[in-house]
Amino acid sequence: MLVVMHKRATAEDIAQVVRAIEARGYSARPIQGGERMAIGVLHNRGPVDPNWILSLAGVKEAIPVTRPYKLVSREFHAQDTVVPVGDVRIGNGSLVLIAGPCAVESEEQALTIARQVKRAGAHLFRGGAFKPRTSPYAFQGLGEKALKILDRVRQETGLPIVTEALDHTVYDLVEEVADVVQIGARNMQNFTLLRRAGQSSKPVLLKRGMAATLEEWLMAAEYILEGGNPHVILCERGIRTFTAHSRNTLDLSAVPVVRKESHLPILVDPSHACGRRDQVIPLSRAAVAVGANGLMVEVHHRPDEALSDGAQSLYPEQFQRLCEEIAPLAQLFARVP
Ligand code: PEP
Ligand code: MN
Repeated sequence: MLVVMHKRATAEDIAQVVRAIEARGYSARPIQGGERMAIGVLHNRGPVDPNWILSLAGVKEAIPVTRPYKLVSREFHAQDTVVPVGDVRIGNGSLVLIAGPCAVESEEQALTIARQVKRAGAHLFRGGAFKPRTSPYAFQGLGEKALKILDRVRQETGLPIVTEALDHTVYDLVEEVADVVQIGARNMQNFTLLRRAGQSSKPVLLKRGMAATLEEWLMAAEYILEGGNPHVILCERGIRTFTAHSRNTLDLSAVPVVRKESHLPILVDPSHACGRRDQVIPLSRAAVAVGANGLMVEVHHRPDEALSDGAQSLYPEQFQRLCEEIAPLAQLFARVP
């Protein structure tokens, strides 16, 4: 059960509601519910009659939520959440395209790719500054230098920036520059990082862990909403299976299920899902058809020389073709729930 307080409710009203609920033998605690502030959660034992809760001073609504994820659930918030990023709206029915290299490698590289993807129709630019790499010997990203380059890219192109916060210690630095802070697949259950993201005013792109169930993923998003940040964008990026023909397996069925279960927007990252350039366009078409709110695609102007993920990076011309192909599909499937 989620108890929504009136906007004008005071801290004392909230404390009183918590005490009244506890007096009945339940536990309750105030949480931040995004736009709907000052909510008490009941960790109930069995169904609770909402009527007596509604009679308490300051209470606006008492909403039974049967799912373990509460604020993320459609039971609590029926309408789609639309995440504003500059002039872009993620989750409003239009298809959002995020494109750019896996990692920022130089100013020349980032600016060249940004100009190309913008011309093709990208709405946001992506590029890693702090990279999660399997090998400690692999390129780890340019760090703060890359953040400065990303700032420059935004100034030059006007494209909002998506970049990853590898841990909570770099969050301050990253959120200063990023318009959307990415939490990577390997960090989906980094609870310190999720809590930090909950305190941020910047939207968060939360990737699905490579072996995470939908419930674990939505519970990770719950940490961020519970911390007070309502702007979470989910991103399906493939899960690990036994296949050898692609790096991961794109779990397309996650898209309609998440859209049914949650009001949060969901994007698909076909690049990390397949790991191979030749599969990116077909998977993108499929993602749009199942109702994804957008795509995040890796693009590099010289993929053979890329310092990470070159094999899955589209050439700019291919990205342009993808944009052209996807536009009529996006219109066709705009109302897919
Ligand atoms: C990335 O987006 O570059 C990345 C590392 O993705 P993931 O966390 O999905 O592997
Ligand atoms: Mn990558």
